[in-house]
Amino acid sequence: VSKKGWLGAALGLTLVIGSGPVARAYDQPVHVLLSARAYGGPATVPAGDPGAVRALRERVWHAGAESTDAELKRRFLLRYPTLESFDSWAFKQFLGLNPDKSIVGFDEVPLPVGDGRTAYAAASRLPDDDWRNRERFRHDANRKVIMGPYSQPLPDDPATLDMGGITGLSSQAHAHYQLPKLQFSDSPDVLKSDPRRFATPPTIKTFSAAYAEMYTVLAALASRLPGGERLALTHAAAAAHHVEDVANQIHTVQVGVFDFFLDAKLEQIKEELRSVGGLLRSRPSFVSIGIDIVSNHHTLLEALYRKHLLQPGDPVAKLSAEAPTDPQFAADLQKIDATCAPGFARAIVEALAERSSFEGPEVYAEIRKVANKRLSRVHQIYDDQKEDPDLEIRPGADLSRFYELQARGARRSDQALQAWWQRFAGCGRLDAAGETKLAESLVRARLDELDAADARAKAYVPKPPERESVNVWVPIGYALVLALVALVVQRVRRRRKR
Ligand SMILES: [Zn+2]
Repeated sequence: VSKKGWLGAALGLTLVIGSGPVARAYDQPVHVLLSARAYGGPATVPAGDPGAVRALRERVWHAGAESTDAELKRRFLLRYPTLESFDSWAFKQFLGLNPDKSIVGFDEVPLPVGDGRTAYAAASRLPDDDWRNRERFRHDANRKVIMGPYSQPLPDDPATLDMGGITGLSSQAHAHYQLPKLQFSDSPDVLKSDPRRFATPPTIKTFSAAYAEMYTVLAALASRLPGGERLALTHAAAAAHHVEDVANQIHTVQVGVFDFFLDAKLEQIKEELRSVGGLLRSRPSFVSIGIDIVSNHHTLLEALYRKHLLQPGDPVAKLSAEAPTDPQFAADLQKIDATCAPGFARAIVEALAERSSFEGPEVYAEIRKVANKRLSRVHQIYDDQKEDPDLEIRPGADLSRFYELQARGARRSDQALQAWWQRFAGCGRLDAAGETKLAESLVRARLDELDAADARAKAYVPKPPERESVNVWVPIGYALVLALVALVVQRVRRRRKR
């Protein structure tokens, strides 16, 4: 295959990540387990005051509207001139969440119940359950979704499309992935030599660290409000969700392995031949074949780990419980200031992304090695809701390295959350100036994101929907082969007559 062909293949990849069910990170029950295991807050937490949700929103509005930083104040008041204009819908949009979804901790809906550990564990799965990061569309001044020219809604931030579709599970990938801080390249050679550095487009943005930071500040501010303890726990758990996702190595690389391309390309060639270039029947595009192959493996490996991790007495559960800590990651965490200062959660997630990303490609390579070959074929879909993941593993396959990597990832989640709780404990002891600094850091970060998203939205040109065409070279190729066969047969016959 020519180099140009591979480049085209690589460019199709945005969509490989784009439309498939590949963006959930850990399954929700795994979030519950990891959060319960790493909980570092008080054993019991009061039910709290339902008014805390509103009080927290007002706290953030005052931080922007009354900032001593004149420029910050000006920028904030331009968007939210009055306290009344900063209702829960505006607050969710300000924070980069889907404002049309009802979200625990932002809308006046009940907070998770139970003791500290139980409520924290349950709340940590909510960012997946309530779709707060999915389907973030642009809205007009009347809060109506703005439609694009091809009867598709416009994205609130076009950067979300670097990692996923405009709708569906993958539309939340931007918020649940964190790629390491690297100079990215969309050259297929990079995918072979240094897969951590492969991304298309190379300007890609992922936001898990930013969301972890945002929820951390909200939790710190909530914990200082009268009756705000349970609300603080809810936002602390949302921060934990983003930490846990990044501990899952496959959420720190965009693609992982070059072999998925090779598989998709071979299947595409077969499909071209079988359908005579689309003349006899419709056939899936290279991109959609790629989407299915990657998502099959992504879904399978998560289902496989979930099943064995949560099964009592399973050796994988034991392996995970006993996995050693990562000394390099421990050293990296040591370098992050051990106080409740703005940016500590972001720094923890970025350090985690750096370590996880070295193993992301290997996790994909390991599952590809042991999975049934059918999962790399066209028209084959693995459905984790219906199919036992163990039935998709080749008989006699060696899964030891795969499980070792999974257990290591889960252990890093513990390390990161432990570092988080250590620093968060200091948030309650901040003085008024320290609290203001924290609140203003949130306002500044969000205004910067909104400005950047607005600029991207202004420059955004929606792509027209793809149309399937017949590849005439395939029928011409068949015709040439037939003509050649006919010619040879004719010659052989003539020779025999002589
Ligand atoms: Zn997630």
